[in-house]
Amino acid sequence: MPKTIIMSQIERISCLIIGSGPAGYTAAIYAARADMKPVMYQGMQPGGQLTTTNEVENFPGYPDGITGPDMMLQLEAQAKRFETDVRSGFITKVDFSGSVHKCWTEDGHEIHADTIIISTGASAKYLGLESEQHYLKLGGGVSACAVCDGFFYRNQEVVIVGAGDSACEEAHYLSKLCTKVTMLVRRDEFRASKIMADRVKKTPNIEIRFNTETLEVLGDGQLVTGVRAIDRSNNQESEIACTGFFVAIGHQPNTAVFQDYIDLDETGYIKYAQPGTSKTNVAGVFVAGDAADKTYRQAITAAGTGCMAALDAERYLAAKGH
Ligand code: NDP
Repeated sequence: MPKTIIMSQIERISCLIIGSGPAGYTAAIYAARADMKPVMYQGMQPGGQLTTTNEVENFPGYPDGITGPDMMLQLEAQAKRFETDVRSGFITKVDFSGSVHKCWTEDGHEIHADTIIISTGASAKYLGLESEQHYLKLGGGVSACAVCDGFFYRNQEVVIVGAGDSACEEAHYLSKLCTKVTMLVRRDEFRASKIMADRVKKTPNIEIRFNTETLEVLGDGQLVTGVRAIDRSNNQESEIACTGFFVAIGHQPNTAVFQDYIDLDETGYIKYAQPGTSKTNVAGVFVAGDAADKTYRQAITAAGTGCMAALDAERYLAAKGH
């Protein structure tokens, strides 16, 4: 079985997992149980996007729900139970040109791994307003995921910002739960595909405000109570009452460090080399979770692809006689 061997300054391992969301931890649990002795670097945001979520109610197996941070602690404990070597720190440089994949951590430590599982995820983009960040950090009514958090705003009024396919999909999703959805679109047109935009336009409880930008998220210090917005066509300011403020202005996959070796699509998501697998264009390098998924972006789908990546890595090693 492959073993961790330290050779001078270079660490030689069989499986390196980069990133610590549900995809990374699930890959770690599977890889560790297959005796691949995985090493995980947790990355910039240990635990990933779920650590910024309050209650997770849609992950099977938690009938009473669980907070995002608690769920990530449990996943970490499960990965460590099988002796995954979980390390804080991140990978800042890679060289995937040879059969052994080279990676460097932020402090210059060099690791050579037979297999790599990329589970670096994606980061939701936010407007960057101080008030938005305040209520986001408090869990007081700002969210970047309607499917995750929309349920908490049933029969309430919400505001959503964005004009792409995600914003349209999320506005439509929210319209089924909420009494009213106000959609703030910064230009005088959607970016979304016509079919998605039409669906939103035809939904009676979605009000679309074009040329409108968010100036401030209003609240009582703990919870969101509204949004102050400006219509740039006439410079009129207004306040919109709401209990939830959803931001759907896109995601940034955390893949820049791999771009010289791994095929990415035009928005930076990793392309699967073979659909239905976790394979990238580089043999021995696999991807799991949101770094390759702009469609589903759920903890459960990330976990599923984490399992796939570990199984694919195990088979790759077996085929090489490890
Ligand atoms: P996009 O990049 O397509 O859209 C982002 C939207 O956010 C744009 O309308 C942009 O406005 C707006 N925006 C950006 N910054 C700000 C800001 N500071 N203030 C206000 N608005 C802002 O991202 P999506 O996540 O919507 O989609 C990403 C990709 O995934 C796309 O290719 C999309 O087609 C695909 N997708 C497909 C789905 C499907 O087919 N079911 C579902 C979801 C996504 P502006 O237009 O003015 O630049």
